[in-house]
Amino acid sequence: MPGTRTRPPRHLADLDPPARRVAAAELGGEPFRGDQLARHYFARLTDDPDEMTDLPAASRAGLAAALLPRLLTAEREQSCDRGMTRKTLWRTFDGAYVESVLMRYPGRVTMCVSSQAGCGMACPFCATGQAGLTRNLSAAEIVAQVVAGARALARGEVPGGPGRVSNVVFMGMGEPLANYPQVMTALRRLTDPVPDGLGISQRSVTVSTVGLVPAIRRLTAQRPGVTLAVSLHAPDDGLRDELVPVNKRWKVAEVLGAAWDYAAATGRRVSVEYAMIAGVNDQPWRAEALASLLAGRLAHVNLIPLNPTPGWPARPSPRRRIEAFASVLRDSNVNVTIRDTRGRTIDAACGQLRLEHDRANGAKRMPQDGERNPLRAGQAPAPTVR
Ligand code: SAH
Repeated sequence: MPGTRTRPPRHLADLDPPARRVAAAELGGEPFRGDQLARHYFARLTDDPDEMTDLPAASRAGLAAALLPRLLTAEREQSCDRGMTRKTLWRTFDGAYVESVLMRYPGRVTMCVSSQAGCGMACPFCATGQAGLTRNLSAAEIVAQVVAGARALARGEVPGGPGRVSNVVFMGMGEPLANYPQVMTALRRLTDPVPDGLGISQRSVTVSTVGLVPAIRRLTAQRPGVTLAVSLHAPDDGLRDELVPVNKRWKVAEVLGAAWDYAAATGRRVSVEYAMIAGVNDQPWRAEALASLLAGRLAHVNLIPLNPTPGWPARPSPRRRIEAFASVLRDSNVNVTIRDTRGRTIDAACGQLRLEHDRANGAKRMPQDGERNPLRAGQAPAPTVR
């Protein structure tokens, strides 16, 4: 229940290397035990004290219990695409549920992670948005999703042989920039070199946002070097106010202005996410409007066929409609990709995370698919056809 919140247990992945040494010393060990634990967690991908034979037998279990507590328990695992897409439903220490998805492609493995349990941004087409926010995840709870994927890959549990996580996208549950400090800490742990962190390259990490302008500006000032993705979904404020309600606060022009400043500061191309929703945002005139916003900018558009969710009566645009939209953009020299969404058959595709669990849990569940959060009953707008 939100309101009776306690913080997730402290974990090594919440701490930077000096803080780990202090923590190890406070636990009665030598400071370098903190570094050893980090090597186990980030390099060897283990949190099992029995495997930590370089630690004194007497203190192993205590150090691991204090600094590597089990934060996430796999409640359920599903796979599709011949095992190349794996979704994990995790239960947190306080009974919240979050999901992560591992997607293996030729030459790369992407982990899609959650940054919050639920989401407060209320985008009507998104299954997570339909349910509301439960709580922010801690940095270590975010990192643990990636470590779990890295461990499964390292142990050869994913078809295609042993491998490593090359990319991380914050496109699971939650709005990462609404959980800014924890997400920033998680970014450091993901990208710090092994064994301080997981050693994933900054440019291979993508933070996706609805467009929280002050947070984008803060991110720009800190220049973490990660890729920024903006969930635009409409080029005009009238429609974007409905599809991405936070647009009522920060308009398209402001969001894109902040995105271009990020691109200028980092030299990184901004991804513009655009869910293709039949009859809602897929008209040629909207393609033209989008093209004129993006022409000449350091941007790349991802057109994502809508994944229908039971809570919102809309369909994905037909393929030829998406092709036509893409070619309008190409005609203005805007980079565009039509994204093939993985994981549809296991409800792991965009915006669908958590559905399956809620179906399975019947009456005990949070208000979710098909029904509105009672707090917002009746307020979710139906798709507008223009
Ligand atoms: N809150 C962040 C990140 C999580 S969602 C954000 O909004 O960017 C990741 C992406 O999936 C976003 O672009 C989001 O708009 C998109 N998405 C959510 N539900 C979807 C659906 N049903 N179909 C297609 N894309 C969806």
